[in-house]
Amino acid sequence: MTTRRPPFDFLIVGAGPFGATFARIAAEAGHRSLVVDRRPHVAGNCYTERVRGIDVHRYGPHIFHTNDSRVWAFVNRFADFHPYVHRVAVRQGDRLLSFPINLRTFAQLWGARTPAAVEERLARERIPCDNPRTCEEWILAQVGRELYETFFRGYTVKQWNRDPSQLPATIVRRIPIRFDDDDRYFTDRHQGIPVGGYTRLFENMLDHDLIQIETGVDFCVDRRRLEPLATQVVFTGCIDEFFGHRFGRLEYRSLRFEDEILTGDFQGRAIVNYPEQAVPFTRICEHKHFAGQGRLPESVITREYPADYAATTTPYYPVRDARNAALYDRYRALAAASNVIFGGRLGTFQYFDMHQVIAQAMSTVATVIADPHRARAPALLS
Ligand code: FAD
Ligand code: UDP
Repeated sequence: MTTRRPPFDFLIVGAGPFGATFARIAAEAGHRSLVVDRRPHVAGNCYTERVRGIDVHRYGPHIFHTNDSRVWAFVNRFADFHPYVHRVAVRQGDRLLSFPINLRTFAQLWGARTPAAVEERLARERIPCDNPRTCEEWILAQVGRELYETFFRGYTVKQWNRDPSQLPATIVRRIPIRFDDDDRYFTDRHQGIPVGGYTRLFENMLDHDLIQIETGVDFCVDRRRLEPLATQVVFTGCIDEFFGHRFGRLEYRSLRFEDEILTGDFQGRAIVNYPEQAVPFTRICEHKHFAGQGRLPESVITREYPADYAATTTPYYPVRDARNAALYDRYRALAAASNVIFGGRLGTFQYFDMHQVIAQAMSTVATVIADPHRARAPALLS
């Protein structure tokens, strides 16, 4: 009896940041990968396409930001970055407010222009909580009810279809509250937007002799053909889908995007948030302000509408509340007992940004390549 090794070392499901990073590093260490994606393109949710000369972020605005120099050096091998610094405004009625909350915001709302004046007002506004666990508790403890209602409540209800009192504080703790006039959304050492778009960046990352790509291929549909092609499967789709939802469905939130093409400049910046509950969308993205394309005569704007996740729509955000975290733990136990590597936002059910997913892929692939257990994975019988 002879054994035949499969043609690929890795079958990587998902050509997003996790899958592309894993494939590239594996290839540079001499391992062959087949990367499949059910979408007709690579780059996952970071996918951009050119419309009227503008890189349109097809699945929502993506700003690359990181303090991890290894991750920054890695992505810079595949694209130059436009030095974009993300600044957001919030539209409340006819007011345009600075966000995340900073000294300018306190001046706009309360006329408080110094940190001392802000502190004095906040001392009256804050609703203390020893151990804030929900979004609501955390925001009320930081800034009180007025700012909670102005900036957070409506937006969060629309985005997550839950009251902030029912959501873990981690969801909003990523938004800073500042007492100086720093109005940057992210303060990471490195931030920017890839020149030429994210699609080109990930195409370049995947451009290697030891990487083969098949788009428009759904692993869950084509599993019997695909699985025998590689020694090991790397899965970046929904972990509950991989296991046939056997313990029940994990919860995700989805989005619907509505584009409009117009002439001129609609809002003068990339993002304006709309926290009012009466407005059905959460933000408007004007794509030409991301990568130095602001002088183009036309513009593409996208209104972003939160949506329920049904089997037919895309799972953009894992809802990591207590119930779903417990359900995920059951799937994670199954995953740990399998020979499959799970990674990325959906594979590990975490609200990760790109740099976190890339760092996760870097450490996972390094561990897998170094682990001799991988070599014991079953080979095909001929
Ligand atoms: P994805 O990018 O989701 O890629 C997974 C891929 O797997 C998908 O292409 C999917 O089609 C494919 N797939 C799934 N199941 C199957 C299957 N059964 N068969 C074949 N293929 C399958 N991050 C930032 O750093 N900055 C931002 O500004 C930012 N903004 C965001 C805005 C929005 C609206 C969203 C939704 C996310 C944002 N993110 C941002 C997060 C970023 O999108 C993720 O961190 C990143 O895309 C995760 O990479 P991934 O490879 O894990 O997953
Ligand atoms: N958020 C809010 N108001 C805003 C912006 C954000 O209440 O104007 C809350 C909301 O709950 C959101 C979370 O903060 O889901 C994280 O916001 P972020 O901008 O990081 O969301 P993402 O870009 O990941 O969609």
